[in-house]
Amino acid sequence: MLVLVVNAGSSSLKYQLIDMSNEQAVAKGIAERIGTDEAQLKHETTGKEKITRKGVMPDHQAAMKYVFEALTDADFGAISDVSEITAIGHRVVHGGEHFSGSVAINAEVTKVISDLSQLAPLHNPPNLMGIDAAVKLVPDAPQIAVFDTAFHQSIPSHAYIYALPYELYSEHGIRRYGFHGTSHKYVAARARKMLDARGLPSGCIVTCHIGNGVSFTAVKDGKSVDTSMGLTPVEGLVMGTRCGDLDPAIMPFLQKQFGYTAEDVDNLINKKSGLQGITGLGNDMRDIEDAAAAGNERALLALRIFCYRQRKYIGAFAAAMGGLDAIVFTAGIGEHSPLVREMTCEGLEFLGVKLNQEVNAECHTERDISTDDSRVRVLVVPTNEELAIARETARVVSGAAE
Ligand code: ADP
Repeated sequence: MLVLVVNAGSSSLKYQLIDMSNEQAVAKGIAERIGTDEAQLKHETTGKEKITRKGVMPDHQAAMKYVFEALTDADFGAISDVSEITAIGHRVVHGGEHFSGSVAINAEVTKVISDLSQLAPLHNPPNLMGIDAAVKLVPDAPQIAVFDTAFHQSIPSHAYIYALPYELYSEHGIRRYGFHGTSHKYVAARARKMLDARGLPSGCIVTCHIGNGVSFTAVKDGKSVDTSMGLTPVEGLVMGTRCGDLDPAIMPFLQKQFGYTAEDVDNLINKKSGLQGITGLGNDMRDIEDAAAAGNERALLALRIFCYRQRKYIGAFAAAMGGLDAIVFTAGIGEHSPLVREMTCEGLEFLGVKLNQEVNAECHTERDISTDDSRVRVLVVPTNEELAIARETARVVSGAAE
C-alpha cells in the first residue's frame, strides 16, 4: 500500500510517498515559492538522484501537477502511474470541535474545514488548496484529513475554557484547541510501548515537542488531558519567534502607549519574540547555544528563560495529572539538544527525575536518558509526523478502529 502524505502551506507543498509494508518513504519533496516567479520543485526518490526543477506554479493545483509528474517521471520517479497511490493523507491544522479523529474527505468535511478558517486563517485555507488540487488530479484515490487539533479533543472543559465571558466560547468558539497533536499522539504511543515493554508505569506522560514551534502535552492513559498551545499556537512555551505566555494586558498597553495596531501586535508575538526577540540573534537554537558558550549574556538568558518555562510546564502538568511517569523529548531541539534537555530537567529531582548525563550528552535517537534509579523515565522519541499521517490514512481507508 502506497500512501501520499501532503502538507500544504501558504506558498509550499511538502509531500512524502510512504510504502506502508515497511513504513519507509519511497519519495519525498517540496514545491516551494508557489505563486511567485521563483517557484520550484525539489524531489528525491530513495536511491535516485535528487532533482530541482523550476516551474510555473501560480497555485497549488499547478504545483501538485509537478509533484505527480516527478513521482511518475521515468528517470527520477518512484511509480509509473498515479493509480499506484492507494490513498492521500492531508495534514489539516484546525479541526475545531468537529473532528476528534481523522476522516475521509467529502464535500461536507471540506465545508467544515473551510468554515474553521476563521480560527486558523493562515493554515486551513492553504490546507484546503492542497486537498482541492489532489482531489482534482487524483479523483479516484481516497483522501483523508488528519488534524493537528484532533488528539487534544479529549481535554476536559476545565482545561480548555478561558476565564473570559462564556459567550466568547459558546458563540465564537474561543477556547484552547492545542496543536502538534499528530506529533504528541505519535511519540506518546511510542513511549507507552517502550515503557509497557519494560513493565514500567506509563499512565502519566508529558510529551515535549521542542522545535521551532514548542508545545507540551499532558497525556494521561494515552489521552491528551491538557496542552500548552491555546486558541492559536502562540500560547505556552517560549518558541523560536513566538513569545508564549504573556500578561494579556501588555497588548492594550502597547496599543495605547505606542500606537501598535492589531497587525503590529500579531507580528510582534508571532515573528519577533521568543529566542529571536530575546537574543536578537535569530531563532536557531544551535546559534544560540554557540553564542551562549562564547559568553553572549543574552543568549544565555534566552536559554535560561526557554528551559525554565519548560520546567514550569512539566511541573504544572504533573500536578494536573496527579503524577508523572515519563517525560518525552521530541522534534528538532528535543531530539538534538542535550543542553536544553539538561537545563529543562534541572531542579525536577524532587519529582523523581534523574537524568543520565553521559547518555543524554550523546543521544540523538530513540533512547531512555534517565539513570537506572530515576523514578520518572526521561525518553527521547524522534517524531515522524508524515508517518503518523500515513498510518492514520491507512487506518481510515481500511475502516479499522483506533
Ligand atoms: P519545525 O518546528 O520547523 O519543524 P524542527 O523540529 O526541525 O522545527 O526544529 C528546529 C529547531 O531544532 C531549530 O531551532 C534548530 O536549531 C534545532 N536543532 C536542530 N539540531 C540541533 C542541535 N544539534 N542542537 C540544538 N538544536 C538543534
